[in-house]
Amino acid sequence: MKISIIGTGYVGLVSAVGLAELGHEVWGVNRSPEKIEKLKKGQQIFYEPGLSKLLKKNLKKNRLHFGTDLAEAINNTDYVFICVGTPPKKDGGADLSAVKTVTRQIAKEAKKNLIVIDKSTVPIGTARMVQDILKKNKHKFEVVSSPEFLREGKAVEDFFHGDRLLIGADNKQVAKKVANLYAKLKTHKMITGLETAELTKYASNAFLATKISFINEIAMLCEKVGANVEEVAFGMGLDRRINQYFLNAGIGYGGSCFPKDVKALKHISKTNGFNFKILEAVLDVNVRQRKLVFNKAKKELGALKGKTVTVLGLAFKDNTDDIRESPAIDLIKWFSKAGSKVKAYDREAQENSKELLKDKAIWSKNPYEACSGSQLVIIATEWPSFKTLDWSKIKRSMKKKVIIDGKNILSKDKMEKLGFKYIGIGK
Ligand code: NAD
Repeated sequence: MKISIIGTGYVGLVSAVGLAELGHEVWGVNRSPEKIEKLKKGQQIFYEPGLSKLLKKNLKKNRLHFGTDLAEAINNTDYVFICVGTPPKKDGGADLSAVKTVTRQIAKEAKKNLIVIDKSTVPIGTARMVQDILKKNKHKFEVVSSPEFLREGKAVEDFFHGDRLLIGADNKQVAKKVANLYAKLKTHKMITGLETAELTKYASNAFLATKISFINEIAMLCEKVGANVEEVAFGMGLDRRINQYFLNAGIGYGGSCFPKDVKALKHISKTNGFNFKILEAVLDVNVRQRKLVFNKAKKELGALKGKTVTVLGLAFKDNTDDIRESPAIDLIKWFSKAGSKVKAYDREAQENSKELLKDKAIWSKNPYEACSGSQLVIIATEWPSFKTLDWSKIKRSMKKKVIIDGKNILSKDKMEKLGFKYIGIGK
């Protein structure tokens, strides 16, 4: 089939490459000519494991085309995926301006009937709005809502082995056509109405965020009563009704999805006359966790002015270079404002962080350089490589030997045996 993808960010590019790998001919559209030039050459425009190899392979097979011209792309294809960003507005609602702009462009430029599939995370009713905008064009459009569930860092794996593919449409035959694009995948394909698909995405992300905030509340209690949150979480997770996922206590969630989607669901509820009480607490707890780590550092160092603090990990999670809503970024801003000297390191997210924070930190070449001369190290991202660092070497190079493990990835016993003061979350 011939498919166009509007927006080649994390969702759009992974979808474009994945659909090409399934044998479709795909046109990817991005507004930035520089990014298009890179993509045409098979160069990565962000870090995502496994993506580069498939990008190059499908370019070679001539199944992938990239350009800035939306009209050319959509008029070469039968299916159009909208994969643009939907960032939060000040009031917590989702900013739909990119979705509207792209839909208006489709309405203006389309010279044929099209199936338009929304993959962006959008409030309930957006597909209806898209239908209305497209009525301005004389051709026939079928609008489908197929929200994306990929995880950054595991996006390629999730494309091919996702838990479900959700397809919402008014017309079940159209939904089946979209499901057939993924016929080669064993992924469970669920067909629903438009509103149900749109809400399922928000409900899923808000539930996962709730699990994280819940275990962070348990962690607070653990610290008060002398229990260990890792063991509590493990014990809880043995119950199949609960499962072990998203029960890691720590610095709280970040990223481009959970923070904005929880706020958006709260906003959607409010505009529908419903007070979604749990979500307020989920958001409050998450903000508190970041501050908790900062306050633990303050308690250890006393006055922060003139102290040297290291932040290991800048991305909002491991295996990505994405720093949107990353706890590490807030920490660097807070320490820098308090007059501390901040040293920072992340293998993949360093360039993005440098661009954003400029001279608020000293950007190190490796974790050893970042920790050298420091009084306190904070682990802010769960990069597996941090677990296997030569921590005795790090200890020797530090002025004061304190570690705050914001992701609970190190062993307290091991760190204490090495001579560190180890501070985890809830243990
Ligand atoms: P992103 O910021 O990485 O990419 C968005 C892309 O849209 C960018 O390439 C941008 O240039 C492009 N764009 C914006 N306006 C455009 C326009 N008018 N014309 C053409 N291109 C335009 O965002 P993302 O992370 O890929 O997320 C996209 C959507 O998918 C969001 O709604 C997000 O909530 C949702 N989502 C994201 C993830 C994730 O993990 N990143 C997972 C599931 C769902």
